Amino acid sequence: MATIGFIGLGNMGGPMAINLLKAGHEVKAFDLSQAALDSVAAEGGHAAASAAEAATGADFVVSMLPAGVHVQGLYQTGDAPLFDVISKDALIIDSSTIDAATAQSVSAAANERGLSFIDAPVSGGVGGAVAGTLAFMVGATDAQFAKAKPILDCMGKNIFHAGQSGAGQIAKACNNMMLSILMAGTSEALNMGMKNGLDPAVLSEIMKQSSGNNWALQVYNPVPGVMDGVPSSNDYKGGFQVDLMFKDLGLAMQLSQQSNSPVPMGSAARSLFSLHKSKGNGGLDFSSVIKLYQDN
Ligand code: NAD
Repeated sequence: MATIGFIGLGNMGGPMAINLLKAGHEVKAFDLSQAALDSVAAEGGHAAASAAEAATGADFVVSMLPAGVHVQGLYQTGDAPLFDVISKDALIIDSSTIDAATAQSVSAAANERGLSFIDAPVSGGVGGAVAGTLAFMVGATDAQFAKAKPILDCMGKNIFHAGQSGAGQIAKACNNMMLSILMAGTSEALNMGMKNGLDPAVLSEIMKQSSGNNWALQVYNPVPGVMDGVPSSNDYKGGFQVDLMFKDLGLAMQLSQQSNSPVPMGSAARSLFSLHKSKGNGGLDFSSVIKLYQDN
C-alpha cells in the first residue's frame, strides 16, 4: 500500500481521496478549506497542516485543483513550491482540468529537477468520483502510466493512456467540447419538437432509436421529467456546472487557436454557454442550456 499526498479535496477531490483510503492506501490530505479537510479526515485520512506536509515522503502526490494557475503555483512558482519537498522516487499525478500548455510546462520543469509529473484529468463528474468509476485520460510516458495505473484504478473504471505529457488535457478538452455541442444540439432538437406539439419523452425515444441517438439522450436528457435521477429532473441542481463547462470550452478554444484547428461548432457552443452563464445560470447543471431555447 502506498502513501499518497492528496491536495484539493473539493467536490471531486474529496471523494477521490476517500476511495484511495477505502482501497487501503495511507492518504495525507490538504485543502485550503477546513471543512473539505475535515470530511476526508472523518474517513480516516491524515489532515496535513500544509500542502508541503502532505507531499513530503509520499510515494504519489495527487492534485485536484480548479485551474492551471493553481497547479503551477502549488508545484513550481508559489511561496512553498512542492517541487522542493517531493521525493525523486515519487510520481505526481495532476487530475485537475487545466490547459495542456501549463501541464506540459510544469511537467518539463519537474523533469529538469529529476521529478516526475503527469496529467490525468477525469470525466464522470461528482457521481463518478463518489462511485469510483471516473474515466482518466493520461498524458505520460509508458513507464509513468504503468506506475500510475494501480492508483488510478482505485478511483476510476476506464484508465486511458492518451499519449505523452499534455495529451490527457488535450483529450479532455476534445471530449468536453463534443459534449457541449451534443447537449446544445439535443436541446435544440427537443425544443423544436416540443414547440411543434411533440411529447419530449416520445421524441427522445424516437431519436434514441434513430440516427440522432447520443449520450445526452441516453443518460442525461435535458428536459425535466423525461428521465429520473438526472439534474434536469431536479431543477438542474448537482451534475456538471455551466461555469465548469464554460471553463472547459475556454481551454478548447485555446487549443484550437494554438493548433489552427477550426472549431465553428465548438465556438457556437461556447457562445451559447457564455450567454447562458451571463443570465445567472453558472451554478446550474450544463443541461440547463435548454432554457436558452425556451425563454420567451
Ligand atoms: P472544487 O472547487 O469543488 O474543489 C477545488 C478545491 O481545491 C477546493 O476545495 C479548494 O479549496 C482547493 N484548493 C484550491 N487551491 C488550493 C491550494 N493551493 N491548496 C490546497 N487546496 C486548494 O472543484 P471540483 O469540482 O472538485 O473540480 C476540481 C477540478 O476537477 C477542476 O479542474 C474541474 O474542472 C475538474 N472537474 C470537475 C468535474 C465536476 O463535475 N465537478 C468533473 C470533471 C473535472
